Amino acid sequence: MLISLHNRYSASDLGALGERKARLTGEIALSQLTRLRKLLYVYSGSVKASIVFSQQGDNCVTLEFDYETELELVCQRCLEPFTQEICEHTSVALELSSSSWPSKVNDYELLMLPDDRFSPSALIEDELIVSVPLAPVHFPEDRCGSLIKRLKNSVDCLTTQPQTSLVAENNLGVIK
Ligand SMILES: [Zn+2]
Repeated sequence: MLISLHNRYSASDLGALGERKARLTGEIALSQLTRLRKLLYVYSGSVKASIVFSQQGDNCVTLEFDYETELELVCQRCLEPFTQEICEHTSVALELSSSSWPSKVNDYELLMLPDDRFSPSALIEDELIVSVPLAPVHFPEDRCGSLIKRLKNSVDCLTTQPQTSLVAENNLGVIK
């Protein structure tokens, strides 16, 4: 079985991965995460992720997710873009067949296998969507508007330069 973050795994795939405590690492381009990218200012980067599978009894596999990325968001206070770094760990337990299992296994939240398939990239996308604030803003607040301040400074420089040359010309005039 070729394992990838983009695959959709069946219960038997997950059971096999859990049994051999498989570890899966890879990258997902943010442009492929079509639900998340609607929330981003630009989506040229990627998410680095790793997953460790582990079998728990006959009917359950736990997955330990680690993922990190940088999301480009727009500040809702000053409307300038900023980067939010994300570095997270998530654990899930998947129930491989419906049964009367308890809703928690060793403190893991037990999830049913949606559509009989599990997609690691869809779960990572869900987690990233949740980590984007409803109203993203610069933190601390004094970072707000830094782009407009820089632009204003460079415009000020441009407008003061001609005045200096004007003074120089006047001086030349005096020497004549
Ligand atoms: Zn701001």
